[in-house]
Amino acid sequence: QRKYGEPTAEALVESAMRHVDILDKHDYPDFKVSVKASEVFMAVDAYRLLAKEIDQPLHLGITEAGGLRGGTVKSAVGLGMLLYEGIGDTIRISLAADPVEEVKVGFEILKSLKLRTNGINFIACPSCSRQNFDVIGTMNSLEQRLEDVRTPMDVAVIGCIVNGPGEAREADVGLTGATPNNLIYVGGEPDHKVSNADFIDHLEQVIRERAAKIEAERARQEEEVILKSTG
Ligand code: SF4
Repeated sequence: QRKYGEPTAEALVESAMRHVDILDKHDYPDFKVSVKASEVFMAVDAYRLLAKEIDQPLHLGITEAGGLRGGTVKSAVGLGMLLYEGIGDTIRISLAADPVEEVKVGFEILKSLKLRTNGINFIACPSCSRQNFDVIGTMNSLEQRLEDVRTPMDVAVIGCIVNGPGEAREADVGLTGATPNNLIYVGGEPDHKVSNADFIDHLEQVIRERAAKIEAERARQEEEVILKSTG
């Protein structure tokens, strides 16, 4: 504090390196280092500097990031920059919110950077007056109902035919709003129509069935690889 006058990235790194030196003197190389700061740019600069200094793993975080919404955005921006550059080995999301949300936010950050693929990747339109069903309500409901699904898969929820078919064709399961009935795509192909009445139960079932099929196919491929390597 005396040398730098205020917290800076350089001060954080100098302090961290003092502790690294102590561990070095004791010939103890198995540690990881964190230089979390609540200010996004300071944290990012500090981790960038530290990554040039040591080979040990770095534990990333924007500390005391704030409430659920603001803290999520800060964490995503800061950790996103670093992870995209290949800096960082473990992460912690610090929110003034339910710790369960911290884990969910961390997982979503890793998923959006394609560092983790487990779970459903939702593609959803923001909805507008052209929507044929309640896109936001459907998304909220599906996210909650399908939290337990660990299968890597894409699910598109698009309110009308402007973008629906294009997105649905790229997804494992796609719902596109249409008149008089909405259309469900499975495996990129138009599969069947559903009306707006109680379609969420049905959509959940279609997604779970598709997830089970993807898992079965994955297990079959793994078995094939094992058989080839042992045969
Ligand atoms: S896809 Fe259709 S419903 Fe969704 S935002 Fe675009 S125009 Fe609106």
